[in-house]
Amino acid sequence: MDILVVGAGIAGQTLAYWLARHGMRPTLVERAPRPRTGGNGVDLRGQAIEVVERMGIMPRVRAAAADVRGIAFVDATGRAVARIDMRRLQSRGGEVEIMRGDLVALLREVTPPEVEYVFGDSVRTLEEDGGGVTVSFEGGSTRRFDLVVGADGLHSTVRRLAFGPEERFLRHMGYCFAFADADSALGEDRWMTMYNLPGRMAGVYRSGNHAQAKAYLVFRSEPQAYDHRDLGRQRKMLEEAFGRETSWRVRELLDGVLADPDCYVDMLSQARVPSWSSGRVALVGDAAYCASPASGAGAELAVVGAYRLAEELAGASGHRAAFQRYEQGLRGLVRSRQRIGPNVRMMVPKSRLGMRTRNLLASSMGLLARRQ
Ligand SMILES: Cc1cc2nc3c(=O)[nH]c(=O)nc-3n(C[C@H](O)[C@H](O)[C@H](O)COP(=O)(O)OP(=O)(O)OC[C@H]3O[C@@H](n4cnc5c(N)ncnc54)[C@H](O)[C@@H]3O)c2cc1C
Repeated sequence: MDILVVGAGIAGQTLAYWLARHGMRPTLVERAPRPRTGGNGVDLRGQAIEVVERMGIMPRVRAAAADVRGIAFVDATGRAVARIDMRRLQSRGGEVEIMRGDLVALLREVTPPEVEYVFGDSVRTLEEDGGGVTVSFEGGSTRRFDLVVGADGLHSTVRRLAFGPEERFLRHMGYCFAFADADSALGEDRWMTMYNLPGRMAGVYRSGNHAQAKAYLVFRSEPQAYDHRDLGRQRKMLEEAFGRETSWRVRELLDGVLADPDCYVDMLSQARVPSWSSGRVALVGDAAYCASPASGAGAELAVVGAYRLAEELAGASGHRAAFQRYEQGLRGLVRSRQRIGPNVRMMVPKSRLGMRTRNLLASSMGLLARRQ
């Protein structure tokens, strides 16, 4: 089977790997001119760890693990007023946190040579008939595939072409966020340093394995209609939310975010798609069931979903049954990961009272850690 996989992120590359291992011929098309290695730490846990182990890269994933101890909430002077030790929580579930870019790069390295990568292109149209899908590409070429899988993230083009406009599928969670590069001098080594203002959070993430740091900016926001690839508009939104703030290191962080060409800015949203396949087209990862970065489950769902989809397609019963079984097998995990609870409200309390309550709650849960 010739299978077009759109998007060379975590879901797309994992899928291409396993399709090739099962003897199918995957082509990966990625809109960016090279693998997108931006992003902060992402978590692998449970079945995702088993999949990565089967791919033979678990030792390298562990070696590259972010080794971040926890979250330090600081006041305007930079003094830590509360700390949450994440290691206790993570070790309970055996999970590993790795920089998204490191995972994307490892997946690229391990992908078998028979996987065809096409960078700097994307799909323009999909025309399905009884025998396959004719795909026209933005670059001008037209090719024919047996199946097409959208692994192209929250704002999936494949989903729009085969399932309908994204407004039908995205559930806005009331926040806008940005992840980008940051000056490492701004944060504490091996900690996520977070500074809150009512309804806003500015933070620095310093992995133990990287000289460089990553910035977080999050603020409460009504849904805003804009082109998610309009970097100018996104920068303006960040300027409006943080531009006048002079406390802590907010201005320096904001400057770093605005200067990073690969900064990742979006409205915090989940994808809720009633069916993950339509004819010969299926969706995997964020395109189908994004739980949002607030869930900490995006990489887990992408890896497990991609693995299961490839397994089902390798079965003998045809793509329809395979797509159905993939969906039936994964819905339960997706439902549980999309039930986020108070994660974001904890990180970005609405008021100063909320901030104090969060700090007290952290200590009453016994999660407060000392600086080590
Ligand atoms: C740059 C970046 C940074 C991120 N940072 C974080 C983070 O810090 N924390 C976090 O929890 N999550 C982050 N995410 C989201 C996280 O990667 C996903 O939630 C999760 O890993 C699921 O991965 P995915 O492969 O489904 O989607 P994604 O990781 O979003 O990958 C989708 C891929 O498809 C490509 N693509 C998009 N549209 C098209 C198109 N039309 N044609 C071809 N290719 C296309 C994108 O360039 C990207 O490479 C980030 C995503 C990106 C792209």
